[in-house]
Amino acid sequence: MNRDQVYNFAPGPSTMPESALKTAAAEMLNFRGSGMSVMEISHRSALFQEVFDSACEKLRKLMNVPDTHEILLLQGGATTQFAAIPMNLLEGGTADYAVTGNFSNKAAEEAAKYGTVHIAATTKPTGHDRIPTQAELDLSPDAKYFYYCANNTIYGTEWQYVPETGSTLVCDMSSDILSREVDVSKFGLIYAGAQKNMAPAGLTVVIVDKRLAGRELPITPKILSYKTMIETGSMLNTPPCWCIYMLDLTLDWVIKEGGVKAMDERKRERAGMLYDFLDNSKVLHPHALPGSRSYMNVTFRTDSPELDAAFVKGAAERGLLNLKGHKIAGGMRASVYNAMPVEGAKALVEYMKEFEVRNA
Ligand SMILES: *Cc1c(COP(=O)(O)O)cnc(C)c1O
Repeated sequence: MNRDQVYNFAPGPSTMPESALKTAAAEMLNFRGSGMSVMEISHRSALFQEVFDSACEKLRKLMNVPDTHEILLLQGGATTQFAAIPMNLLEGGTADYAVTGNFSNKAAEEAAKYGTVHIAATTKPTGHDRIPTQAELDLSPDAKYFYYCANNTIYGTEWQYVPETGSTLVCDMSSDILSREVDVSKFGLIYAGAQKNMAPAGLTVVIVDKRLAGRELPITPKILSYKTMIETGSMLNTPPCWCIYMLDLTLDWVIKEGGVKAMDERKRERAGMLYDFLDNSKVLHPHALPGSRSYMNVTFRTDSPELDAAFVKGAAERGLLNLKGHKIAGGMRASVYNAMPVEGAKALVEYMKEFEVRNA
């Protein structure tokens, strides 16, 4: 199949803006007249520092990051932050965790190694089909921070509000960063693995309030210390140079398309189409409850695993790829991140309609 015959609904790594890929291809062998590719130059060179600063500056503007907060571009994926967060911010005390899916559950388990984890809410009993309300949050009086995952990539639910907790807010925005406007000043720490909405796998963006740095446990490895990473400009060691370059190109695309506001409008169009269909379908059923639904990962299923498999197979034959749900959730999942064109969601709805008629 050719690229123009395909819509890729993969959950991560996932579709990237075509303009970013084309620029990378054009610059692959000779990066800005250096005679070398961006992968072959020193991370300490002025040429690479320019790329690094450019990506940080664009992200700061797009997300309106205040001067109180540092932007770190790190290795290790989102999962490394499950440990780095408690090692830097928990101080052996108590933290509140909202468990609304697989990744927040893993983060809570990791944090419990370094202090006391209080589960402020869990949606496990109903198969993570919703987000808890503010009133449901059981907050500890002495919490060092409140941790939540803004968008649950596997189950397809998303927080539509920022919780009021009285403690430092820590948020995993791996799968919905840059898809909604966020008041960064409300957060102590925001982080995101890049491979959903920003860049190739291998880069994690951490936006941290500098006032929180320096509280780390003595056993915290240097490579996980926010203080050290702030002091070294994310370059205690070699950063993921290629991913940072791709981030810069992706941010160019976001800016050209109209910024986070435009991404927010487009996501509503894409996901809205899909949920509209699912809410009226007799064959395909949405997983997440209204009010808790993700704009980035739309989860649904038929009444049988066999029919689910037929749906995924038939979709792939039409170039609608990677719609199989995560193994722990089953069913289907359409990941419709920023770089998914509205036409991709339209093509999926067309296929859903045909599938419905054939299987009604
Ligand atoms: C993908 C994902 C992760 C895990 O990311 P890695 O980079 O593979 O560690 C964590 N949280 C969320 C919300 C994700 O979507």
